[in-house]
Amino acid sequence: MSQKEKIKKEAFVAPKGMRDIMDEKYYHYQGFFEKAQEVAVYYGFRPLETPILENEEVFTSSIGVGTDIVDKEMYTLKTKGGDHLAMRPEFTAGVMRAYIENGMQSLPQPVPLYSYGQIYRHDKPQRGRYREVRQFNLEMLGSEKSICDAMVIKTACTILEEAGATNIVVDINSIGDKECRGGYIKELVNYYKKHMNDLPPVDRERLKTNPLRILDSKEEKTKAINEGAPDATSSLCPSCKKHFKEVLEYLEEMEIPFRINKNLVRGLSYYTRTVFEIIEEGAGEDGAPLTIAAGGRYDYLAKFLGSKKDIPAMGMAMGVDRIVESPWYKKLSPRIMKKPKMYFIQLGNDAKLKSLNVIEMLRKAHVPIMQSLSKDSLGQQLAIAERMGVPYAIIFGQKEALENSVIVRDMQTRSQDTVKMDKLLEYLKKI
Ligand code: ATP
Ligand code: MG
Repeated sequence: MSQKEKIKKEAFVAPKGMRDIMDEKYYHYQGFFEKAQEVAVYYGFRPLETPILENEEVFTSSIGVGTDIVDKEMYTLKTKGGDHLAMRPEFTAGVMRAYIENGMQSLPQPVPLYSYGQIYRHDKPQRGRYREVRQFNLEMLGSEKSICDAMVIKTACTILEEAGATNIVVDINSIGDKECRGGYIKELVNYYKKHMNDLPPVDRERLKTNPLRILDSKEEKTKAINEGAPDATSSLCPSCKKHFKEVLEYLEEMEIPFRINKNLVRGLSYYTRTVFEIIEEGAGEDGAPLTIAAGGRYDYLAKFLGSKKDIPAMGMAMGVDRIVESPWYKKLSPRIMKKPKMYFIQLGNDAKLKSLNVIEMLRKAHVPIMQSLSKDSLGQQLAIAERMGVPYAIIFGQKEALENSVIVRDMQTRSQDTVKMDKLLEYLKKI
């Protein structure tokens, strides 16, 4: 192929379901992550960053077959060395892998951890549904106590409220443990067998691979059948019943609004006992409820990842893209972001030569500025300052470069002061 033929006719675009995030939007994300971390840290959570890639089996063995994530949404690759890796489709399995690998069992339990960043799912892109998703994630590993469940839910609700949510409700359910879940699944299978003829093919398949998942089905026909399905809470064994009751008592005590949702099972196989979703009423399409966070307890996950002992744990993830796009989002900005009050203008060669030194002096003094050093004319630079709505301009021309001074111009009144360079910071403090 000749060089000419190699030139692509159309410009590349980002992969489907993935976006570039910049300007204001970028800061909205950073502002949220900063706030979420701050709340998490005050509740005692500690940071953990895991690789975006994990061995594929970390997810296939834990999340399980018959789930959306493992069956159709995972991005997987084979490395040049022959390893089978997956882009993380969620945080929990990787966090548990890290807990085991780093011997966190020997720390005081439970170990509360937070993580955030991108996850990847080959989902069907639409409003509020992407293929590269940003989540903020909380896990509390090493305890089966109900207060851990309550604490994860409370921390998540607090983060959402601090970010501007006013109308959240927690949908909650318990799907039992190995004592009682088997009995419940049997009951469920019997129920679905009676409705076999009305079940869509995907759900008929799930009846064989992962019957609990049918309760989470997005098929309209199945949703109707699910209305009459037996509920998990009535088959709970005494210890699961007690655990669930305690979780609800904590929520009541903290005045967190909740609803018991008997069809809530969550799409992953590793859940036991508590499962929940946090919903913002009226925030979805046409005022429909929008799920912004979800999680649950996963007491048996660790053994799937090679742990000899069970490591009971509880966690949740929130969809940051959905939060940042919500009308209620407070548009938090990160602490490093200061809106520049100064526009730096330079004129002539001598001034341009010294201009980076002036900017460095201002930076050291933490005076955020805007500039367009590549421009030469005063008119152009003043026009940009005006367009950006910056209240003051610092003008550094030939004469000023020679006399080691600058002109400070009030963009509104157009009044100007000449200020000696060594008095500039003092002068700026006053205005
Ligand atoms: P759904 O049933 O809608 O596919 P899910 O059960 O796959 O949701 P979780 O795995 O619980 O979702 O993820 C937690 C949160 O992450 C969700 O409540 C949502 O806010 C967000 N989320 C999940 N998938 C996406 C996506 N494709 N695009 C944007 N946000 C997402
Ligand atoms: Mg999904």
